[in-house]
Amino acid sequence: MKNRFLCPSCRSDLKIKNSIIFSAQTEKGVRGLVLFSPELGNYSIIHVPGFTYSEGEHIDFFCPVCHANLGIPEVGKDLAEVVLVDERKEEYHIIFSETAGKQCTIKMKENQIVAAYGEDADEFSNFWGEGPRY
Ligand SMILES: [Zn+2]
Repeated sequence: MKNRFLCPSCRSDLKIKNSIIFSAQTEKGVRGLVLFSPELGNYSIIHVPGFTYSEGEHIDFFCPVCHANLGIPEVGKDLAEVVLVDERKEEYHIIFSETAGKQCTIKMKENQIVAAYGEDADEFSNFWGEGPRY
């Protein structure tokens, strides 16, 4: 997979090898780097043992390069986004939950939901007034 994941603010590549790297901060102020899988719908997260959080806790995600907050409170207070550029240079918004334990990823192009992943996706895709498509 040659997909690139970019920061929406500075457009730096956030994917190195097989991980997307974010800087993160929990509600309790714990800060650290977290690695996500670039496979949409895979919610395994890698972080150091000291980066602790509880289920349901809000986690803020930041670009590790320009430190922009990736949150999109204008869409949802617990949502964040990155830019996906696929092999054909098509560009998408990837919207994901900032709530620990919530499994929801939405792939959008020009305000249309292209795909939704995760068991909590229904609840989130309703922000746009339509359900996920497969
Ligand atoms: Zn950035």
